[in-house]
Amino acid sequence: MNLLDLTPTTAEQRVGELVKSGGFEKYRARQVFNWLWTNPIPAWDQATNLPRSLVTALDNHAPIARPFLAKRQDSSDGTIKFLWEFDAGAVESVFIPEGKRATLCISSQVGCAFGCVFCSTGTMGFGRNLAPWEITAQVRELHMLGIKPTNIVFMGMGEPLHNWSAVDTALTQLNAPGGFGIGARHITLSTVGLLPQLAEFAKRKEQFRLAISLHASNSATRQTLMPVERKYPLPELKKLLREFSRRTTLEYVMVSNVNDSDQDAEELSQFANDISAHVNLLPLHPGAGSGLKGSRHEKIDEFAKLLAGRGTPVSVRRSRGKDIDAACGQLAIKE
Ligand code: SAH
Ligand code: SF4
Repeated sequence: MNLLDLTPTTAEQRVGELVKSGGFEKYRARQVFNWLWTNPIPAWDQATNLPRSLVTALDNHAPIARPFLAKRQDSSDGTIKFLWEFDAGAVESVFIPEGKRATLCISSQVGCAFGCVFCSTGTMGFGRNLAPWEITAQVRELHMLGIKPTNIVFMGMGEPLHNWSAVDTALTQLNAPGGFGIGARHITLSTVGLLPQLAEFAKRKEQFRLAISLHASNSATRQTLMPVERKYPLPELKKLLREFSRRTTLEYVMVSNVNDSDQDAEELSQFANDISAHVNLLPLHPGAGSGLKGSRHEKIDEFAKLLAGRGTPVSVRRSRGKDIDAACGQLAIKE
């Protein structure tokens, strides 16, 4: 049994059963449970408050699953990139300190099936889905290193809604009081907009944040950048987002002469205003080597002004960790 693959509520029940069947006192269950997410330990023999026989029982029935930290790279701007190896496949996560806030960008899949032309992860193709424990191990392992992120973004490798059932459980582990207890407003899921799963995500009652990778506000342009546009076209995405009552951010990578004209700004502004969304403009990072060129900084600022002038809340995202290939869209594992 892998307790770290369960929601905290279910894990607590399983721990209770295990403790009972071994003939241990009832209060032991809470002690065991706290070592899962509240005070994570690398192995049961580090659980200082448990009797030897219970440690043995846990080792036999519910060993603690862990990835191997294969590499750590520190950027000159404080950003840290981690490479985690699992039994099959590896993923990266990126830790981004910014004043009081500390954001961890996590992965949900090995590779990605969606092939957006500007994205390095897309060039890897699809490897496999991560299990819930593999998603949240990226946080758990950092806690054991003494690093505690305040915010989580699903903006690493993979398309989280393509792995919805595991991400669903992972969201609970991140947010629940018996899990990591991170406020839902501090957890952001980023997606290209897989409509059926987006509807499922929208049903969750916690105030998780949603970021949509839009990158174009008309279907023709979006198709040249994102193959998914053929399957889930913008008009349908917009319809669903209109019904989604929480704050949505639209992610928009600025590509020179592709999506950065004045008319693009006008269309984007219309799209955002129709669904009351905030726009995040991102500089294009050297990623998939698709021959695309990023818009110049002045152009991005100009574009932002056009949006603001039309009443659209807009911010320009600062690149972090570029020197260690840790910025958005730069995560890819070679071997
Ligand atoms: N698959 C999800 C989440 C991972 S990508 C998604 O696409 O939303 C996280 C963000 O990085 C997305 O907004 C994505 O479009 C953006 N991105 C991908 N490649 C990029 C690049 N080369 N430069 C800047 N941003 C990029
Ligand atoms: Fe996949 Fe997101 Fe990259 Fe597109 S941008 S290829 S969906 S990880």
